[in-house]
Amino acid sequence: MKHEGNALPPYLHMDNGELWLTEDDRDNLKISYRIKEVIFAEPSEYQHVMILDSYDFGRMLVLDGVVQTTSIDGHIYNEMISHVPLQFHPEAKRVLIIGGGDCGAARETAKYAHLEAIDMVEIDEKVVRACKEHLPAVSGNLSDPRVRFVYDDGVKFVQGKESVYDVIMIDSSDPVGPAEALFSPEFYANVHRALKADGLMVCQSQSPIFHLDILKRTYRNIRELFPHVLVYTAVVPTYPGGLWSFTIGSKRPLDFPVQTTIPNDTKYVNDGIFRQCFALPAFLRSALEVE
Ligand code: SAM
Repeated sequence: MKHEGNALPPYLHMDNGELWLTEDDRDNLKISYRIKEVIFAEPSEYQHVMILDSYDFGRMLVLDGVVQTTSIDGHIYNEMISHVPLQFHPEAKRVLIIGGGDCGAARETAKYAHLEAIDMVEIDEKVVRACKEHLPAVSGNLSDPRVRFVYDDGVKFVQGKESVYDVIMIDSSDPVGPAEALFSPEFYANVHRALKADGLMVCQSQSPIFHLDILKRTYRNIRELFPHVLVYTAVVPTYPGGLWSFTIGSKRPLDFPVQTTIPNDTKYVNDGIFRQCFALPAFLRSALEVE
């Protein structure tokens, strides 16, 4: 796609003849990426959707000007949000993914042959179509018949569901716009109800560095509902602060398996990462202890 001066898509600018994306969603921090090419740029009903080819991170999905996932580091997040919770539920049959429009979490989840159904409820069909077509490094060639795409608001989708799923993954964007309600106590209560009696959920719970308030609130909300809660982290270079958190809420005890079932074609998660990702830095452990 050509990008001549005044015809640039939003969120992009030229600097000395070079094309840049600047994330502009924070008051005191702006992160910029030098861009080779605009692959796709269109507004959807919910947000502005772009696939950009960047110099350092390869192709990236950008929603409302904020980088969501990239060819270079997307696997870290997508493997962590899928393989880690699945290790605690080896008998799981039905999985629900809420959000996850880049398809990376669904792609990883589909690696488990024992799963019978993977429902993916994404509000924005345009994100899924753009990622399938233009971001294959993340979305893969996802055509597994067990993956059912539902284009709907995840908040609405879980309302009134009872004991349907073994594992629910909340792979949401930041808590603004359509994703805001995916961080609310009412939504978590509906997720709790939609899980079977021994089910578990996981959500991305934001940056422990920049959004400790959101992580603490999420942890507190989930702990009010679930008897077993664990927070774990990974470093995802394109997320502000690098260090990122995930929170598991579980109705079943979170017993560490003697042997994991992590597939051998992962790029980030392996047995060692699974066992160490729950070791929390001192500041984070004490922040959660007082919750
Ligand atoms: N890994 C990424 C991160 O943490 O920034 C985000 C993964 S994915 C791209 C997030 C998806 O959640 C987006 O495609 C967005 O359209 C979707 N989403 C936001 N609000 C939603 C809602 N209420 N129901 C379903 N999907 C939603």
